[in-house]
Amino acid sequence: MIFETLEVGIYGANCYIAGSEKTKEAAIIDPGADFNKIDKKLNELGLIPKIIILTHYHGDHIGAVKEFTDKYNLKIYIHKEDAEALNNSNMNLTKTMFGKGVSIKADVELKDGDEIDLGELKFKIIHTPGHTKGGICIKVGNIMMTGDTLFNSSIGRTDLPGGSFEEIITSIKEKIFKYDDDTLIYPGHMSPSTIKREKQFNPFVN
Ligand SMILES: [Zn+2]
Ligand SMILES: [Zn+2]
Repeated sequence: MIFETLEVGIYGANCYIAGSEKTKEAAIIDPGADFNKIDKKLNELGLIPKIIILTHYHGDHIGAVKEFTDKYNLKIYIHKEDAEALNNSNMNLTKTMFGKGVSIKADVELKDGDEIDLGELKFKIIHTPGHTKGGICIKVGNIMMTGDTLFNSSIGRTDLPGGSFEEIITSIKEKIFKYDDDTLIYPGHMSPSTIKREKQFNPFVN
């Protein structure tokens, strides 16, 4: 697998590129801003983007989606409980964050346990509500992208619409921590971690 992290936008969101070495097809996870930066990286890697998977609908994770769908023929995936807000520029916060609102219609609405195949890669969808109702983690190989659910030594906000502190803690303990300790955590903001490290040091779940 080809895997890259790009920090994008004024909110410092992590955009991830996961590409197949065999077919050169790529998934973009959370293209939050900086279309040109992400597109340039794809070109450097010789990858063709085929799908966008969104961990949730917030503006800082979706800001460059429109530019990608304008340039490439690709499909947008989001959990079914976040699809309506994604398509509403007030709810998805793009109007507040960027001054200019975008509404995005998802092509595929996901549910817990779904798997997306791309070349030899298999993306497993783990529904982890708490930051938003339809927040997901995406596991590919030994890598889990956790969006704004689980951060390195922290957790996502639970004070926004659809947020719940109880739910986010349950999601982390029961849906994320059941995977192997050596699973790599690639969060929606800030630096990576491992499940083992978060089990030991994350103050919110200890
Ligand atoms: Zn968020
Ligand atoms: Zn965020």
